[in-house]
Formats: sequence, C-alpha cells, structure tokens
Amino acid sequence: MKQLCTKLCLLMTTVITSTFAAPRIHFEVSFSEPQAHYAEIKMEISDIRKDYVDVKMPVWTPGSYLVREYSKNVESFEACDENGAQLPVTKINKNTWRISSDKRSQVVVNYRVYGFEVSVRTNFIDDAHAFLSPAATFMYVDGMINHPVDVTIIPHPSWSKISTGLEPVSGRPNTYHAADFDILFDSPIEIGNQDVFTFEAAGVLHEIAMVGGGNYDRERLKKDGAKIVEEATRIFGVNPNKRYVFIVHNYQSGGGGLEHLNSTVLGASRNGYQNERSYLSFLGLVAHEYFHLWHVKRLRPIELGPFNYDAENYTTALWIMEGFTAYFDNLLLRRCGFLNESSYLQALANDVNTVENRAGNRLQPVALASFDAWIKYYRPDENSANTSVSYYNKGALLAMMLDLKILAATQGQQRLDDVLKAAYEEFYVKKKRGFEEHEFQALIERVTGVSVDELFHAAHTVEPLDYNHYLNAVGYELVDYNKGRELPELGMTTTASDGRIIVTGVSRGTGAWNGGINVRDELIAINGERLDVNGRELNRVMQTAAIGDTLNIMVARDGKIRELNVVLGRDTKGAFSIVPLQNATPEQARLGKIWLSLE
Ligand SMILES: [Zn+2]
Repeated sequence: MKQLCTKLCLLMTTVITSTFAAPRIHFEVSFSEPQAHYAEIKMEISDIRKDYVDVKMPVWTPGSYLVREYSKNVESFEACDENGAQLPVTKINKNTWRISSDKRSQVVVNYRVYGFEVSVRTNFIDDAHAFLSPAATFMYVDGMINHPVDVTIIPHPSWSKISTGLEPVSGRPNTYHAADFDILFDSPIEIGNQDVFTFEAAGVLHEIAMVGGGNYDRERLKKDGAKIVEEATRIFGVNPNKRYVFIVHNYQSGGGGLEHLNSTVLGASRNGYQNERSYLSFLGLVAHEYFHLWHVKRLRPIELGPFNYDAENYTTALWIMEGFTAYFDNLLLRRCGFLNESSYLQALANDVNTVENRAGNRLQPVALASFDAWIKYYRPDENSANTSVSYYNKGALLAMMLDLKILAATQGQQRLDDVLKAAYEEFYVKKKRGFEEHEFQALIERVTGVSVDELFHAAHTVEPLDYNHYLNAVGYELVDYNKGRELPELGMTTTASDGRIIVTGVSRGTGAWNGGINVRDELIAINGERLDVNGRELNRVMQTAAIGDTLNIMVARDGKIRELNVVLGRDTKGAFSIVPLQNATPEQARLGKIWLSLE
C-alpha cells in the first residue's frame, strides 16, 4: 500500500506540474495617442484556468495617503481568450472587472488609461513624454498580488529612453521584471527623451533622469547627490540597493516627491537650480526621499505593508515615518555642509512657528493626524488650520526632542541615528515585518537605556511641548521674539481677487472668529472707511487699533451686505528662533557640537 501510494503521488505530481503551470502575467504598454494623454495597456494572464478572473485597479498608491480612485481614468476595458474571442465582462464595483473566463488557459485584457494630472503620484502623458505611476496604470488579478510580473514598454517612436527602478530582463528589449505587484506598484516609469546621467555613491549606481529641461549643473548635482547618499547610508550602515533612480520632473514651478524602494519621483522648478535657496530646497527634497528608502519603504509601521490596494491603510505612526524623515532631511544637509549652523537652526525654528502658531495643534494629536491623513491632511479645506496639525512639522520636532534627549542622557555616546540603525536591523532585516508603535518605543529604550515615554505620550495628546527642556541640554534655546508683545489681532487671512478683498481663513478663538467673519466674505469697509484692494486701509486701521477695540466691518456675503462687530483680541502668535544658550556649560556646548556636527 505504501509503495503504491508513493507511485500514485509521483504520478499526480507530474500531472499537476505539466497541466497546471503557475499563472504568468505580462503587460505591454504602448502610446498611440500620447498628445491626447492616453496609454494603451495589454495584460496577458496565462495558465489561469478559472471560472472567472477578477481584475482590479488600485485605489491609491503607497506613500500618498489618499484614495485617488485611479480606475476613474480607465476606459475601453475588454477581455478575450488566446484566440481573440471576446469574453464576457461585468464590472462588479468601482475598481473591479469580473471576466467570465470559463477555465480558459489564457485571458488577454486590453484597456486604456488617461493621464493628464501633473503630480508625483498620477499619470501624465503628452507628446513629449509619459510618466507612469504604476498603481494608476497596472491592474492586478484579485488574490495574486504576490505573483511575478513582466512589463514591456513600447515607447512612442519619438521617444528614446526609459527610466525605472524595475529590473531589465536580459535579451528582451524594453522589458522589465518585478518579483511581485508590490514591487511593480513601487516602481514608477518615465518614458521620453530625458537627460540621463549617473553617479556612484555608497557602492550603488545612481541614475538621474531629468525630464523637462532646466538650468541644472550636472556635475554639481552628481557631487551633491553623492554626499547626501553617503551621509544617509552612514546612518543605517548599509545601502540595500544596487541601483537607484531619481526621476526629476522639471516644471515652470514644481515641488514635492514620492518615495519608492529603489527610486523616487521629484518635482522641481526648471530654472530654480541656479538660485541657492531654491537649489537647497531641491537638495532637501532629494535627502527626504532618499532617507525614505530605509525609513518607510523598509523600516515601516506594521500597517504599511503588505498593502491593501483597495482601501485606506490606517496608521498612527506617520509622525515617526514622515516626521523623522522631515527631521533628518535638513540634518543631512547640515552634515553635508550645505546648511550652516544658523540656517539649520532657523529651518528647525520654522517647524516650531508652523506648529505653535496653528490653532489645530491644540486640538489634534499628531498620532491622530497620521491616522486621519486620508480625510484631513490630503483633503485640506478652509478650516484645516483650526482643526489639524502636520505630522511632518510636529513629527520633526518630536524627532529633534528624542535625538536631544538621547544625546544628553548618554553623554553624546548615542543618538537617534543609533535607534534607526537598530530598528532597521530588528524589524526589517530580522523580523521581516513592520513594527507596532509601542515596539518602536521599546526598542529606543532598550538600545539607548533612555526613557522616552513622555515624547510618545506627547504624540497622542495635545499637551504643550517643552522644547527648551531638550534644547538647553545641548546648549541651545528657543526664544519667542513676540513674548510680552501686546498687539491686537483680527484673526483672519485674506486674498485680493478681481479687485476685491476676500477672506480665506478665520482663526479659531480670534476676534474675526467670535465676530462671525466667514471665509469667502468680501471685505468692503471698516469703521465706515471703504477698503482698498491693496490692504492699505486695513493696515492703517490695525496699526492704530488697540486690544479690546471694536471694529465695525462691512462685508458682502452671497450677494447681501452684512455689518459685523469684531472685538480685537491679543495676538498670541509667536516668532520663534533657536539660538545658542547664554552661559552654556562646557558639557552642553560639547553635546551641541555633536548634535550639529560642528567639530
Ligand atoms: Zn516623506
């Protein structure tokens, strides 16, 4: 019996492998009408043999926490078998097409994608080039995210180059391989006539693909890019890539970036490279997205991978992921020597100004800002400043305080760098999974021996932050140049539009708020004086007004005239700077030098 069974099993194994080979998925992307912003996608699914196949388009792309409904740009979806016979298709929800394949071996899907939205997370196709955000382009078979996939790009005849972090398949021109759909969705593709140049740093070949021209200096970019790569790699001690691609979209005016495993997409101003301020901000973006290749793409919260491409993926830890990255981007520029001590400190103080002068900071804990990024940070409105705080700015300040606390408590032996290196090894390398927020805190405390409970607690509350407790320990202090100032505040922001002054924001708790000024009100007169569109009259009134004065403000609202009485309150906004502490002890000064690499 035993022998017979073995023989039977062997026979069955042979049959299974020959009849049911693993399904294979291959995409072909072409561009017959790039001037009209279309890409044609052909998706071949081989050896599938199912009653039906559900094909889905992601609703979002990792790194950009908003449901973008990529399927809205899909049209002309159809499916056929290997002989070209049409297969019935039913759309079963907003982003899923069900193909009745009736156990056929091969299913071929064709669809078109429209792309005309300029951003790092949406497709843009025109007669000059195509940028493919993969989650907005490639569909997946439901339940087969872990499947390998090949992509062949057929560039428009006027285009000559393809830039992507995907692995080229040898012997098959313009064909790339991804081990699974997570990797495909994490590998944007640029097709056109971009200016491509390379540099090597940290043992990794880096490719820069400049799209749209610009007044950049290739040699300077290579040199400065290499410095950033070396400094970032030093933090984690290892650079996991062999090759890394920067896709840079140069616009008349542009910015923003999106991180990926072995590539990034950056927006830049085409003619900003010769302006030092604008160039530094570009280098800051490079540092930010590059840092992410470790911090969020590999070391990550448990909720951010494996991803659900069908819905929101909630995490409270974006203050750690984006906040720490926002702290380290400028710190890397300081370590590279691109920012001096005072410009670095001013960049940090700008975060304090942004956070402390925002009413929403007193309402929304930064961990909740992370969780609600999908409905708040990525969907701002006229009331956002009153209700929300940025996990970038506040997260960066919490990162600074963690760094300073560890530096001071370990006499400069350890800092946040050591935590990140250890966390990368613990969660990404060893455990091969994301971390829970409490595990990240526990790791910090284990590695450094320093309790950081009050800072993790602060991330979940709106309690005031005691910046100077941490800054003083390393010989610096936060000063508020507005402290003690007694000036009146109206509490609204305005813009000039079509010769009118229009209210764009009203700050919680101010005179404008209490007096009933509304966003979109047109300001007509104050105290009986007609306002001019340049704001001169408004400025004159405010310069002579005092706290407690009542202003009679005439506004037009929805075609009707209203008069409102606004009582001026005290302006509570701070003007923060970080400066060296008077009478710092030698130990404090020593720690400060370590913090800012001032040796
Ligand atoms: Zn980021």
